[in-house]
Amino acid sequence: MRAVGLHADVIVATSRVYQTTCTLVRSGGEAFCIDSPVLPDELDILPAMAGQAGFTVVGLLATHADWDHLLGRYAFPEAPLGCSDTTAARLVNEPGAAQRELRDFDERFYVERPRPLSLPSAQRLPVPGKVEVGDLELELQPADGHTEDGMAVWIPWARVLVCGDYLSPVEIPMLHPNGSAAAYLATLKRLEPLVDEAERVVPGHGEPIDGTRAAAILREDRAYVEALLEQGEAAKLPLARRTAEQRRIHAENARLVA
Ligand SMILES: [Zn+2]
Repeated sequence: MRAVGLHADVIVATSRVYQTTCTLVRSGGEAFCIDSPVLPDELDILPAMAGQAGFTVVGLLATHADWDHLLGRYAFPEAPLGCSDTTAARLVNEPGAAQRELRDFDERFYVERPRPLSLPSAQRLPVPGKVEVGDLELELQPADGHTEDGMAVWIPWARVLVCGDYLSPVEIPMLHPNGSAAAYLATLKRLEPLVDEAERVVPGHGEPIDGTRAAAILREDRAYVEALLEQGEAAKLPLARRTAEQRRIHAENARLVA
């Protein structure tokens, strides 16, 4: 797991699998952990890593309800979970889905966990709106489209945008069966002014990138999703994201918009 400091108050750890990102943000003696790494050793080391850097994690935030972003409780078992209304609703409406998908992943790769994943009932945060950490505030924006739920987190004093599963340098826009291409485009539009202001952008998957690179990815992703809607399977993939796995995701996207 790689960890980088983006700002005195922001650390990002990137998982060795899926490059899922986990962002620690602090103010005034309190810190939140946004999303999570995936592997057990990464989750084990996270509290010590946070502690050594002077981040006292008092709460978990999830950008959306996909299982690979929800594992923070393995690292911080006492911390309450905050998320958007849409994510809280998904957790209620799909009971056990995250646990099931985590178990499928673990069985496939022979991964062992110390215990089953326990998810507390989530606190619903106002989105769009703000949530306090220490004596400062994080700004929350809706970010649906990849899935039916989700939020992006803007850290104003650090000019860092934690956007969930958008603007990834390693993954093309991915539509889940409950996602929507039109909502995806609306989210890109909503994120655009924040990307323009951002010093760094933390995608759900892939290393943190600077604002200029994120703006370029945003343009590529918009072009891809628009082409997907118009041409389906014939849409061209972004140049730097054309691996076999990305082509598989593309075929799935095309099937969903058809
Ligand atoms: Zn994800």
